[in-house]
Amino acid sequence: MSLIDVAILGAGPYGLSVAAHLRTVQGLDVTIFGETMSFWERHMPAGMLLRSPWAGSHLSDPESSFTLDAYRAKNGNHFNAPIPLNRFIDYGRWFQHCAAPDMDRRQVGLVEKNAIGFQLTLNDGATLNARHVIVACGIGSFAWRPTVFENLPSSLASHSSEHRDLSLFRGKQVMVVGAGQSALESAALLHEAGARAEVLIRAPIVRWLHQRPLLHKWPIQPLLYAPPDVGPAFLSHIVARPNWFRRLPRGLQDTLGPRSIRAAGSAWLKPRVNEVQIQIGRLVVSAVPHDKRLKLRIDDGSERIVDHALLGTGYRVDISRYKFLSRELLASIKQIDGYPQLSSGFESSIPRLHFVGAPAAWSFGPLMRFVAGAEYTSRAVRNYIARSSKSLGSCN
Ligand SMILES: Cc1cc2nc3c(=O)[nH]c(=O)nc-3n(C[C@H](O)[C@H](O)[C@H](O)COP(=O)(O)OP(=O)(O)OC[C@H]3O[C@@H](n4cnc5c(N)ncnc54)[C@H](O)[C@@H]3O)c2cc1C
Repeated sequence: MSLIDVAILGAGPYGLSVAAHLRTVQGLDVTIFGETMSFWERHMPAGMLLRSPWAGSHLSDPESSFTLDAYRAKNGNHFNAPIPLNRFIDYGRWFQHCAAPDMDRRQVGLVEKNAIGFQLTLNDGATLNARHVIVACGIGSFAWRPTVFENLPSSLASHSSEHRDLSLFRGKQVMVVGAGQSALESAALLHEAGARAEVLIRAPIVRWLHQRPLLHKWPIQPLLYAPPDVGPAFLSHIVARPNWFRRLPRGLQDTLGPRSIRAAGSAWLKPRVNEVQIQIGRLVVSAVPHDKRLKLRIDDGSERIVDHALLGTGYRVDISRYKFLSRELLASIKQIDGYPQLSSGFESSIPRLHFVGAPAAWSFGPLMRFVAGAEYTSRAVRNYIARSSKSLGSCN
């Protein structure tokens, strides 16, 4: 059975960035498993624009040679923020080609602990051993549906991640549930595609980012907000430095983390939903099929009959939903509310098993939910693995 030093599961922004950094460790044999940028390509709607700013959307490589700017210059593309989804996917593929070429497009079906480290079974049945495993599998497994929608067929209710092409709802009446960027942008795209969209939001207001443009202009912006632009004024600077954030008392982290990622829409989205009806402070209390349509009962006693409910209800990290982790492995990973507890090298309680991206948010803060966190993560993982492989002697 073949043996590799490091297996990276997932070829999204985190997996690719970590791989680009690990390539600089001499003698280390690193393979990324999975399809490049597949979550962005298959589970986000065509026509979407990224919410994160230009400075918060670069993948990371050791010399910063493969930034968005380098991609734009090299390819003669003329685009700026907000970054169109198709450009970002293409950027990810270009980055992979330049910075992380050692790919294996197969999915990993099972990871088990063994004497060497880990045994990986791939989706074609092949097996191999790896000394280190880095789980960079993103949030695709964590799509969250409120319980009232749980037992409905996907023709009547679906999570926003199930759609690539919202134009299939042209002429249909669609209730969008949720208050974040994904729900609001889905409503805009549905409306523009000729669907009759309505949005239902539990919160008492719709939050729009960058409501006061003056605060987001030089010279005030850099004082209040760090470049990734995650979190409110001032706090944004702490969020941008995960090693500071993780040193805050736990209670403070638990308060400031959620405050930094409150459901909100980008300011540029606001005019696009002007004609969409938005109900605030409301909950769906029941949802039942009704003559091939869906009858929704709202908590103010009213009812709606719609063709479809689109759930922009987000993602809840719970690593037990990573089906490729063997039961024994999962049972021995120390977890808090579904998040693995990680050391400074993003290592879980199982030596040489690392988690990056959103599952690292309990240990490193909200930046880990965004592409911008890939820079800090990649350097930390690279340094940790370089040190540990040195202390073990050669990796080969
Ligand atoms: C609608 C939407 C819009 C978003 N917009 C932004 C934005 O503007 N800016 C931003 O920073 N973030 C945004 N995000 C968050 C974004 O998902 C994360 O920032 C980013 O994807 C994190 O990268 P990742 O590499 O951790 O995960 P992903 O990009 O999800 O990559 C993980 C990869 O792992 C693969 N994988 C899973 N299981 C296996 C397996 N067993 N074997 C092999 N491969 C596997 C998946 O197929 C996937 O390709 C958005 C999210 C959504 C849902």
